[in-house]
Amino acid sequence: MERTILVIEDEQNINDILTFSLSKEGYKTLSALDGIKGLEMALTENPDLILLDVMLPGLDGWEVCKKVRENSQVPIIMLTAREDEVDKVLGLELGADDYITKPYSMRELAARVKANIRRSSVQATHEVEPENRSTIISGDLSINVERYEVSKNGQIIDITLREFELLKFLATQPDKIYSREKLLENVWGYEYYGDVRTVDVTVRRLREKIEDDPSMPKYIITKRGVGYYFNR
Ligand code: CA
Repeated sequence: MERTILVIEDEQNINDILTFSLSKEGYKTLSALDGIKGLEMALTENPDLILLDVMLPGLDGWEVCKKVRENSQVPIIMLTAREDEVDKVLGLELGADDYITKPYSMRELAARVKANIRRSSVQATHEVEPENRSTIISGDLSINVERYEVSKNGQIIDITLREFELLKFLATQPDKIYSREKLLENVWGYEYYGDVRTVDVTVRRLREKIEDDPSMPKYIITKRGVGYYFNR
């Protein structure tokens, strides 16, 4: 299925490079050179993902992000000029999904785009399920995917976002075994060039929180030599 990406970036040459590279990756692309046009296209063209520059004439990226979010849950990746935590917090509050800080490689950008599109289609599939779509219940464990809450026997567990994402990912596809590489790719969000042991460490922490006996797990099970799965 062909995916459409809207690139909102005022620098013509950067916009050209982005749309060219994305079309080589097989995406259909749309481009806007200012915030007002970008917002209009975001709302009328129904793109599958938006790449949104922060500094834009007309309407800046934050305003565009906020206004798009009032109408749509399309994934938005902000293109920020500098590594600025304040910007990231602001963007998160306005509903951006991801950030990429300039300068970035096209390879990194393409990986992020792919990961965000995949994540949104997984969510969309999940939302089709009619009953209890926001809560996954298994045994004494309850995972509320909208509130980012996990509780065990009715007690809310203190869990990090990454631990939550990993648990949610496995629990939404029970019994399906994922390799550590696949988990890195899906849960860590893009081609993570880190160590696959990151997954093991996160699984271990998660088990300490959700399992009665972390050495004898009943939820997150190790398939030796393959990976992990959630036992329904
Ligand atoms: Ca700009």
